[in-house]
Amino acid sequence: LRVTFTPIHRRGEGITGTIVVLQDVTEQEKLDQSRREFVANVSHELRTPLTTIKSYAEALEDGALEEQQLAGRFVGVIRNETERMIRLVTDLLHLSRLDSKHAKLRMKPIHVSELLEEVLDRFSFQFRSKQIEAVIEVKEGVEQAWMDRDQIDQVLDNLVSNALKYTAEGGSVKLIADVTEDQRFVSITVQDTGIGIPKKDLERIFERFYRVDKGRSRNMGGTGLGLSIAREMVLAHGGSIVMESEWNEGTSVTFTLPMKDSLQHLDEAQEGSE
Ligand code: ADP
Repeated sequence: LRVTFTPIHRRGEGITGTIVVLQDVTEQEKLDQSRREFVANVSHELRTPLTTIKSYAEALEDGALEEQQLAGRFVGVIRNETERMIRLVTDLLHLSRLDSKHAKLRMKPIHVSELLEEVLDRFSFQFRSKQIEAVIEVKEGVEQAWMDRDQIDQVLDNLVSNALKYTAEGGSVKLIADVTEDQRFVSITVQDTGIGIPKKDLERIFERFYRVDKGRSRNMGGTGLGLSIAREMVLAHGGSIVMESEWNEGTSVTFTLPMKDSLQHLDEAQEGSE
């Protein structure tokens, strides 16, 4: 709370009163604080791959270039780190577009079963090479949902790629579509049999750059932004997103999208995105 006192002067009478202004600055301060943290995080996230690239380039210069096998490995590291940086910058661009509120959603009715089949098609190579089983389950009553297709593809890509990243070979990933109890939304669940997330981390998992294991996420090429992007996109649609997880057993993320005939939600979602 910021308190400002301004005395009121009257000529010849001196101070005759005081104007007291009470300002609630906590919201503003919280915003400033989270902006500062975000910039610090971004700088750190960019600095890490850049430092790696620099040291491997120096090692090549210092002689590793002469040894073909070693040189090949070092160039591979440089390429991986560069690719991760590109992903990071792309994710940051997505976030800033979501923040700027200019991104108008292009809402259309989409068949949910086709949507899910196409996600699995995009990842079929990775499923096969990790020998992870992929299952789609569309419950009765699920037909179309309203969405900005590009954004929801991105949400699903982020969730499925996490499920793949954090599930060991031989596991399974299930995509389940259902109608919510109030019949107004379609819910889509991405469920895996992977490493899971400890309870204490669950409530912060949608924050930007929050990871359970920073080292593991980086090694997997993660940016720490996938879930926060997914969350912002789903909220812009007027939907919600929750994660449930058991350590060492598996994780499931469920988000909702307005059903074809709930026009009211469409309006709300579009107003929210303007
Ligand atoms: P990242 O790029 O690190 O995967 P995300 O925002 O997508 O970033 O996820 C944040 C963190 O949440 C991850 O680093 C990981 O610790 C955890 N996580 C996300 N999805 C899963 C999952 N399906 N199983 C286990 N842990 C997960």
